[in-house]
Amino acid sequence: MIQAVKQTSSSAGVSWDLRDLYACVDDPRIADDLARARSRAQAFEAKYRGRIETLECSRAADLAAALEELENLSEEMDRPAVYAGLVHAAKTDDPRHGALLTRVREERTAINKHLIFFDLEWVKVPDEPAKALTTHPALARFRHYLEHKRVWRPHFLTEPEEKILDEKAVTGRAAFVRLFDETVSTLQFPFETPAGIETLSQQEILAKLYDPDRGVRQAGAKGLTKGLRNSARLLTYIFNNLVLDHHSDCRLRHYEHFMQSRHLANEISDQVVEALMTAVERNHGVVQRYYRLKGELLGLDPLYDYDRYAPLFPDLPECDWSQARQMVQESYHAFSPRAGGIIREFFDKNWIDAELRPGKRGGAFSSSAVPSVHPYILMNYTDKLRDVMTLAHELGHGLHQYLSRPVGYLQCDTPLTTAEMASVFGEMLTFQRLLEMYPEPRIRLALLCSKIEDGFATVFRQVVLTRFEQSLHQARKDQGELPTEKINELWMKANQPMHGDVVRLTDDYCWLWLYIGHFIHVPFYCYAYAFGELLVLALVQKYKQEGPAFVPRYLDLLASGGSDAPHVLLGKLGVDVNDPAFWDLGLRLLDAMVAEAETLAGKL
Ligand SMILES: [Zn+2]
Repeated sequence: MIQAVKQTSSSAGVSWDLRDLYACVDDPRIADDLARARSRAQAFEAKYRGRIETLECSRAADLAAALEELENLSEEMDRPAVYAGLVHAAKTDDPRHGALLTRVREERTAINKHLIFFDLEWVKVPDEPAKALTTHPALARFRHYLEHKRVWRPHFLTEPEEKILDEKAVTGRAAFVRLFDETVSTLQFPFETPAGIETLSQQEILAKLYDPDRGVRQAGAKGLTKGLRNSARLLTYIFNNLVLDHHSDCRLRHYEHFMQSRHLANEISDQVVEALMTAVERNHGVVQRYYRLKGELLGLDPLYDYDRYAPLFPDLPECDWSQARQMVQESYHAFSPRAGGIIREFFDKNWIDAELRPGKRGGAFSSSAVPSVHPYILMNYTDKLRDVMTLAHELGHGLHQYLSRPVGYLQCDTPLTTAEMASVFGEMLTFQRLLEMYPEPRIRLALLCSKIEDGFATVFRQVVLTRFEQSLHQARKDQGELPTEKINELWMKANQPMHGDVVRLTDDYCWLWLYIGHFIHVPFYCYAYAFGELLVLALVQKYKQEGPAFVPRYLDLLASGGSDAPHVLLGKLGVDVNDPAFWDLGLRLLDAMVAEAETLAGKL
């Protein structure tokens, strides 16, 4: 839950040691590194600008040398930015941290200006000589980096056109995105209580949907809608405008359809996305079976939309930091002693910041930092069983980032579709361990239900959001500017099939698309979540089938980072994402989890 952050926990004193990056915020090496990165970037530009595109620098060995230098200096340039980001996240209210972050970011932007020419020129190299270079053994280490940049080649405009688009986007697209963010973040929501009406922020009103008291949830849903309706005209206008802006981008850049640019960035084909989405939609029955069970457990019939997040068992046991550490370490160790050893390092060497601290950023993340150092993890550990899963999740990211360091800075990051692979896999390992620790049916059922609900949120809901987005873009294209009521209709139509006749969607529900930022920030972002989650569930199934033989191949997959397209890397594990039947593997696991919840509920 989001509200009322607890201020003490067993994680007190668990803070990270950032000295592997810099000694402190006043460390003179920060300025030194930036100065050196700047002069290297200037030298890089002087040496290569105008020589990539014209193929003056067309010997594979020369290009390899250029890429080595680009990689090394990028790492040098980013190291201060990583450090500044981490100290700021750990204590945002220290003005020295904010000042450092701003200074370092500005400097980084200035340095980066000397480097952008490289990719732009590389993309302009004609196909034939480019192919000779990307397949040359001297460039083997950078092959995927070079190839992937070129997928944008057919969609680039001329340099003056790109410059104009870039400049006009500041007052166009970017301005509307900011207007959306500022409008949504300052919305106020009326919450009706017997004592009168309170005015709440978005976070506070959303938290009411998780309340055990149905009256509170209902008032929360009403208040959420009221707050959104007050700004519906402005938000609808922003949606209409940004959808149209996306369409003109697609037209000018010669994309075949609205989702193509997202698919290219995700390194995924149209067919795979459609196969994934239809497989998910064929399984709406699983969602409905679960909500029928939840309705029975809560004693609610019918179940309304505002009941979906009601807690089943609000009084779960707590788990302190040392128990959590032990459980997570053991679950990774049981999977692979090598992985367990790496996880241990995170704890032993203080790469994790888990304590609660005023001014600390909320949520959790794992920062890959830079390959010459190691990842760092931030989370807020509040002794809840949920936090154990968060710890396992972030350590999964950490393991992935740690193992992929040798691939190098330019290729260690994965696309969105496989970015959550190791984290969700790690969660599943720890989840099994948690189930073993708590044999009592009530606790097991609570754990299982929260896992199922997370799975629904990342698989089924994201596909619904994507279908809604598709219909929104199509309707905007066919019918011109859309009134709020029309978009409400599209939203309800996209949501209905998943909820069936098991969850009743109230009239208040039809406004709930208005504040979803993914539609505004990155069009068609959502399906990647479903891809990632189902992929992991399928990998879990494979691990169950293949046992220890799976382990080294999985660790190799993590170690390859983003050095090839996901379907190629996954192919080495015997996974074929192009096979529509593949997606059923993960869906069957979700189905089995719901069946287990039904069995456990029978034992209560
Ligand atoms: Zn994650």
